[in-house]
Amino acid sequence: MEINQTYKGNNDYEKIIAKLAKQYNIKVVRYFKGGCGRAYYKEGLIRIPKKLDNMRKFLVALHEIGHLVEGKQKTSYMSEYVAMKWALKKFKELGMYDKGAEESERRYFTKKLCQAKNRRSKIEDLPDEVFKFSRLSKQWVKKANKIYLYGRGKGWLTGIYIKYETVTKEKTKYGGTLTTKNVIKRVELPDMFTLE
Ligand SMILES: [Zn+2]
Repeated sequence: MEINQTYKGNNDYEKIIAKLAKQYNIKVVRYFKGGCGRAYYKEGLIRIPKKLDNMRKFLVALHEIGHLVEGKQKTSYMSEYVAMKWALKKFKELGMYDKGAEESERRYFTKKLCQAKNRRSKIEDLPDEVFKFSRLSKQWVKKANKIYLYGRGKGWLTGIYIKYETVTKEKTKYGGTLTTKNVIKRVELPDMFTLE
């Protein structure tokens, strides 16, 4: 792994990242290809896309810096949350804000939460602000066994399906029987930009 301690950057996006990395004393490794990133807390190092040639990749790099600036949290969702909040705040401060990029960050986070829920992680204990950010309601999450996202067009997240069980008691002449039924409910999510 080649660590670039003197990452300078070739375009405006890269120059900003280079400046922030220097400010926070973060080492930068560049991927050969791909658009993902990663943060290494112990090493104080981030891996970012080789070329930051669009806003999305730039936001990926900001996000990874956010991980190191905010530090590791108690759970991986909280680590994601604080990194994302940091990146979006910086994004706005830099005057480079883009609604589509924010939407994609937040959608990614909501998806991660739903995956966690579907793997039976206890995401209902997360703070309210995290729920607000993801647009998932604590109530639905508690009620659901599974949550699936649905969207319109190119992945614009518009709502969720929650799957849960209902139990009904039916009277028979021998007493009662319990019937469980799977219910799927479609829930529209509020527009994320009206929540702030
Ligand atoms: Zn992350």
